[in-house]
Amino acid sequence: SDVILDVRNLDVYLNTYSGRIHAVRDVSFTLKKGETLVVVGESGCGKSMTARAIMQLLPEKISEVGERSQILFNGTDILKMPEKKKETELRGKYISMIFQDPTTFLNPTMTVGEQIAESLLLHSKMKKKEAMEQALSLLKMVKITNPEKRIRQYPHELSGGMRQRVMIAMALACEPKILIADEPTTALDVTTQADIMELIRELQEKMGTSVILVTHDLGIAAEVGDRIQVMYAGEIIETGTKSEIFKKAVHPYTWALMKSVPSAQSQTEEKLYSLKGTPPDLIAPPKACAFAPRCEYCMGICRRLHPVMAAESESHSAGCWLMHPDAPKPEQLGKGGT
Ligand code: SF4
Ligand code: MG
Repeated sequence: SDVILDVRNLDVYLNTYSGRIHAVRDVSFTLKKGETLVVVGESGCGKSMTARAIMQLLPEKISEVGERSQILFNGTDILKMPEKKKETELRGKYISMIFQDPTTFLNPTMTVGEQIAESLLLHSKMKKKEAMEQALSLLKMVKITNPEKRIRQYPHELSGGMRQRVMIAMALACEPKILIADEPTTALDVTTQADIMELIRELQEKMGTSVILVTHDLGIAAEVGDRIQVMYAGEIIETGTKSEIFKKAVHPYTWALMKSVPSAQSQTEEKLYSLKGTPPDLIAPPKACAFAPRCEYCMGICRRLHPVMAAESESHSAGCWLMHPDAPKPEQLGKGGT
């Protein structure tokens, strides 16, 4: 089949000082070969934790994945792989990840060339000299200016945009099947952001890599996504193709997110819409609709029952009582509205 990743009933718990947080709640989705899936939502919605679970890079000691959860990469459950195998055969080789802040990822004591070469050596039978040559061609591929000089420099000698390019070069060194990008351009200025997104898209087309892009920025989602998945309070609340989400969204939270996207007009004419209230506490997640306290359309049932994901089309579904075919009508509930 053309499904490369199949995430089933993913639960992630974080045992923190203030309590046990159910950070990712029963998340299921698939990723196809060559497609770009954008995961959007506010900070703390579980999008990064979902990404990290796939990469098996959850915060050590404090995190736990649910017993029923499965993450199938080409049919094999990543969650059941031995740690050694994850290191040599999964991370960096089949699945690579890039982060918002390259400085936490790059080694400050090694030159750019040495770091790229090292990740090549870890995953292949290359000789050192060969790896260095390959590092140079990777730097050229990510279009860093003056690659012959950069290869001998240390991370702190480069600009933020260049460091991001180095991280992309490392991530793509072994031609992974999946690239996970967690807010890859958030720390960069607008022009560099656009360049980096363009670069990711170009390389993806060339290599046929599948991409999971995690962002809070719907503008970026509009530019690069094939499919968009909206998360709220640890759950997927709506998923669809780019045009389904941008033209036919059905979930009130997605509507609110859209209204908060800056457009040429909204910047000059009016203040941006901003959603009132805060997401629920995931130490004691709500049993009914998590968005209910902030939702303008909240009905009686929304506070009593968790909405069921229902399909609008083959590729579009959402978890909201407003669109569920079996949902009782407001008049049947005794009282409608809030
Ligand atoms: Fe709003 Fe109800 Fe839909 Fe939740 S289920 S988003 S409260 S209308
Ligand atoms: Mg994050």
